[in-house]
Amino acid sequence: MSPPLTDARSAALYAEALKVLPGGVNSPVRAMRAIGRDPLFVERGEGAEIVDADGNRYIDYVCSWGPLIHGHAHPEVVAAISAAAARGTSFGAPTAGEVELAEEVAARFPSVEMVRMTSSGTEASMSALRLARAATGREKVLKFAGAYHGHVDGLLAEAGSGLATQGIPASPGVPAAATAATVIVPWNDPQALRAAVAEHGDRLAAIVAEPYPANMGVVLPREGFLALLREQADASGALLILDEVISGFRVARGGAQAREQIRPDLTIMGKVLGGGLPAAAYAGPRALMEQIAPAGDVYQAGTLSGNPLAVAAGLATLRLLDGDAYDRLEATTTALAAGLRDGAAAAGRTVEVVDVPGLLTVFFREGPVRDYADAAASDRDAHAAWCRALLAHGVYPPPSQFEAWFPSLAHDDAVVRRTLDAAAAAFQETAP
Ligand code: PMP
Repeated sequence: MSPPLTDARSAALYAEALKVLPGGVNSPVRAMRAIGRDPLFVERGEGAEIVDADGNRYIDYVCSWGPLIHGHAHPEVVAAISAAAARGTSFGAPTAGEVELAEEVAARFPSVEMVRMTSSGTEASMSALRLARAATGREKVLKFAGAYHGHVDGLLAEAGSGLATQGIPASPGVPAAATAATVIVPWNDPQALRAAVAEHGDRLAAIVAEPYPANMGVVLPREGFLALLREQADASGALLILDEVISGFRVARGGAQAREQIRPDLTIMGKVLGGGLPAAAYAGPRALMEQIAPAGDVYQAGTLSGNPLAVAAGLATLRLLDGDAYDRLEATTTALAAGLRDGAAAAGRTVEVVDVPGLLTVFFREGPVRDYADAAASDRDAHAAWCRALLAHGVYPPPSQFEAWFPSLAHDDAVVRRTLDAAAAAFQETAP
């Protein structure tokens, strides 16, 4: 394990970046402000590791925030992308790969007959909401505090991820009318959900939820809560939209909906679906999906939607995900979570480690963590100090209390052991 010797090159690049990129980055959480340091500029990735511009090597638990379930530069994924690139990068006309990818998705998700691809999860959520509104003739949308569904105007209220990290309750620039149609309910609160549906139900187009919320850190649903979402959607005539941008293809072959046996009306997908290239989708039964143009009149389009490189990366990624892969990812996550609990205990630290296959969060507080308020009550300074210490020990964590760790299939036993040694040392060194 090589502790950083210098970050001179990253520092120089960041100084340049600040002149031409707002905050020096193209997406906020990359800036590492929440852990009180400057970002590291990445030069390359190899399996479970990244190498920064100064040549420092880190075990990577961001993995592009989820897409890289096989780790960096997996040879089969790279080969698929190269072969596709050699045939032409984009056509704006249909290709066979798009059909194959849609068939792979439908084979994994019983709730899906048809798929519409987009280039980002944000577009997919925005478009799923449009479809839900068109299909129901209603405007309101119910979302949960601390959930993140991309930077869609109406969904930026009390959102997780970078907004939680930066403490932005509602972004300036969002029209009041957009958030007036949004109803926000605390996660895991059956009474609040029932009350909100009783009040707004006849105007509700959709209930949208991350089935395993991972943008306030990982906060799992209480027993029966997902079933209650289905029941309340049915009772009010709203659609149930599950945002599986993070959980889809990761926590199980068929996502959280397979693990939890819950059938949504629409599913939002992204990240693993594109294998590290820009691809996302919304998907559901034929009767709903055929309302989208050109089959129907709900308009949504994209110059690069179903891009051949992204489709090739997605297909290669999904085809490598056999049953053994999911068993291994679960074993890796379980070992990490258990080892992190042990490392914290040995240092006399109080943390709550929440894990589900392929995802985990170390909350710097006593458990349980049931909702955004619980997550926000974590000791963020202690978390930040621990993250800085992890970096010094060659482990690159998501630099925010409100995000998930993304172990990959390239994180083998030796990588897990090195991670846990680093984490144990970091718990000791940053103990108050
Ligand atoms: N939904 C969820 C659950 C997400 O985690 C994210 C991004 N982290 C999005 C939607 C938005 O996806 P994108 O960043 O591709 O727009």
